[in-house]
Amino acid sequence: MRCPFCGAQDTKVVDSRLAGEGDQVRRRRVCQACRERFTTYETAELIMPRVIKRDGSREPFDEDKLRAGLLRALEKRPVPMDRVEAAIVRIKRQSRALGEREVSSRLLGEWVMEELRALDQVAYVRFASVYRSFQDVAAFREEIERLEKGLAPDRRQLKLLDDDD
Ligand SMILES: [Zn+2]
Repeated sequence: MRCPFCGAQDTKVVDSRLAGEGDQVRRRRVCQACRERFTTYETAELIMPRVIKRDGSREPFDEDKLRAGLLRALEKRPVPMDRVEAAIVRIKRQSRALGEREVSSRLLGEWVMEELRALDQVAYVRFASVYRSFQDVAAFREEIERLEKGLAPDRRQLKLLDDDD
């Protein structure tokens, strides 16, 4: 592949290893012309289900959008990027594992919340407060208390919110 620094085509792989929970191959390359080093990631291109939005419209699965959503919630939080990438890999894997042609944005949102909950609780609360649009302060406080006690998210409340939108 072409060197991103000088454009020469003569680059050599100096190291190759699995990344992102084994779904990616990370390659260190060195340009034979200018000696600059760079990294490439190789991922199998798998067909992702389309996303059904809340209004019923469909759109292609957008990994960048997923990443942007996670990063927005994680802004200024001490979470390394490789853990974020691993979360994205898991969400994509879950989407494909459904074996359906389509996945609802709501289900994707649930998975994002689960991942954020494991990554960083502040980010989780940020995301959940927007996404789940807690009905009132009490519901929000209840969820924070559940977090503090290490309890699972309240499914009953989720259901409730699903019904009224
Ligand atoms: Zn070069």
